[in-house]
Amino acid sequence: MTTPESLTLRGDVTVELVKSSASDADVLFAARVSTLGEQSLDELKKDPERSKGLINYLMRDRHGSPFEHNSMTFFISAPIFVFREFMRHRVGWSYNEESGRYRELEPVFYVPDASRKLVQEGRPGKYVFVEGSPAQHEAVRGTLAESYEQAYAAYQKLLAEGVAREVARSVLPVGLFSSMYATCNARSLMHFLGLRTQHELAKVPSFPQREIEMVGEKMEAEWARLMPLTYAAFNGNGRVAP
Ligand SMILES: Cc1cc2nc3c(=O)[nH]c(=O)nc-3n(C[C@H](O)[C@H](O)[C@H](O)COP(=O)(O)OP(=O)(O)OC[C@H]3O[C@@H](n4cnc5c(N)ncnc54)[C@H](O)[C@@H]3O)c2cc1C
Repeated sequence: MTTPESLTLRGDVTVELVKSSASDADVLFAARVSTLGEQSLDELKKDPERSKGLINYLMRDRHGSPFEHNSMTFFISAPIFVFREFMRHRVGWSYNEESGRYRELEPVFYVPDASRKLVQEGRPGKYVFVEGSPAQHEAVRGTLAESYEQAYAAYQKLLAEGVAREVARSVLPVGLFSSMYATCNARSLMHFLGLRTQHELAKVPSFPQREIEMVGEKMEAEWARLMPLTYAAFNGNGRVAP
């Protein structure tokens, strides 16, 4: 039986690119089939820099489908409340998440770190978040840890009494970490990033919860490395998915 002392408290998230087939050349190949037919395969051998203009044009005029011929699979470990928001993204995403029915859930829970702004000011749709005081940080950390300990002890108690995992998990809070594989393409990732990150270049600002933004920022860094021209065109055109 796991004791409360063995709880792991985390203020970060894990994002690993585990598999990818994604490059700027994939966009060019897909776009040029409309004018060059089978010869478009030759484009794969050319320097993608020469095709910067085409990628920018596709992005600017929102010709989106050429950005779908690529694939990125991420392993993500984050609190359940992040996954709840993440899985609202239905189009161009595939998900597989760890099961709370088939395995005992690990005692790993989310506690915001010192950089997380804690206080919300303003009205719905017009919030700003400001720094929390040291006392508020202490209160958040202490209260969450205490609550997690109680919840995980209750989970263990029910399991020890022979209750099924799928029933016992009801006592666990949304701050519990889960893990999943999420597979997307550049187009669906851009749509996600447009909504789930804040960025000075965004033409349409969004106000995502910081924790899903932390996941988005890590995925963005991986994607930027794989598809630098597409990434530059996304930023250059206001971070609106084509
Ligand atoms: C800051 C923020 C706050 C939010 N707050 C809330 C909230 O309070 N409550 C809540 O429930 N959700 C909330 N959401 C979730 C939001 O409503 C969307 O569900 C989520 O952002 C996924 O966006 P999407 O539907 O565009 O993405 P996807 O599901 O990936 O869809 C991509 C695109 O496909 C098209 N599409 C997909 N499905 C359909 C369909 N059935 N009919 C027509 N077109 C379709 C649309 O063009 C859509 O933009 C919030 C999201 C953000 C970013």
